[in-house]
Amino acid sequence: MPFDYYRPATLPEAEKLLVANDDSTLLAGGMTLLPTLKMRLAQPSVLIDLGSIKSLAGVREQDGYVEIGAMMTHGEVAGHPIIREKIPALALLAGNIGDPQVRNRGTLGGSVANSDPAADYPAAVLGLNAIIVTQKREIVADEFFLEMFETALEPAEIITAIRFPVAGSAAYEKFANPASGYAIAGVMVVRSSGGIRVAVTGVASCVFRQQEMEAALDKNFAPAALVDIAVSSAGFNSDMHASPEYRADLVKVLAQRAVVAAQG
Ligand SMILES: Cc1cc2nc3c(=O)[nH]c(=O)nc-3n(C[C@H](O)[C@H](O)[C@H](O)COP(=O)(O)OP(=O)(O)OC[C@H]3O[C@@H](n4cnc5c(N)ncnc54)[C@H](O)[C@@H]3O)c2cc1C
Repeated sequence: MPFDYYRPATLPEAEKLLVANDDSTLLAGGMTLLPTLKMRLAQPSVLIDLGSIKSLAGVREQDGYVEIGAMMTHGEVAGHPIIREKIPALALLAGNIGDPQVRNRGTLGGSVANSDPAADYPAAVLGLNAIIVTQKREIVADEFFLEMFETALEPAEIITAIRFPVAGSAAYEKFANPASGYAIAGVMVVRSSGGIRVAVTGVASCVFRQQEMEAALDKNFAPAALVDIAVSSAGFNSDMHASPEYRADLVKVLAQRAVVAAQG
């Protein structure tokens, strides 16, 4: 099906195009959207490419936060000196997404907007208690990821940046699908002045916090604190790669590994 293609140079222009065309879709790295178009799973009549909007790029450090532009690719996040110094766990996570081709095109904003249940960034955004910045408002991570491929974004809302607090210590561990790199299970453990946060991706329909682990780690930040926690597999994904029970087991093992890494 034919579609019109626009590459606006500014955010207001992009928003104007989005509002003017009901059936329009934003294009970032295209790593998810282009295969979806090729398979005819989506057939927008207008494609709005965010690639020329300079304000969506770059990394800024201010007031205890690192703000990363939505169009920063995974490769750029992995290699950026400020992110590597201030939130090394985030740089490491980005460097283990997919393969070099995906890291060269895929973007932070595209991944977060997509809310793929097996994606890595949602665990970092939720675990690190980040703020999703759009052209209209700021959304806290706890209220952003609603379901599989569903977020709090409203129609015509564009993610402009993600603001990550500089955490005390954090680590992300994943058990990756060997073909794609997507998380069969992934756990982000964060210890900061705000407390402990444990975010889990890959195992259910949407990223979520494991509050029982957070409470246990709050009392004793050590892998041993998680030994007696029985992770329920109810509602967990089941596919050719892993059963719900196996995923539940992975969550505990990966959380323990992440605690060790965060201690180090
Ligand atoms: C082979 C392969 C392996 C992969 N492996 C992994 C992996 O290991 N881990 C992982 O986490 N991910 C993985 N991915 C996903 C990839 O990393 C991208 O993050 C993902 O495809 C989305 O980012 P994108 O920039 O390509 O977005 P696009 O495909 O361009 O867009 C995705 C969706 O987000 C919307 N969107 C894009 N930008 C914005 C914005 N700024 N504001 C609002 N909406 C927006 C688009 O309209 C679209 O609906 C893999 C992808 C492929 C193809």
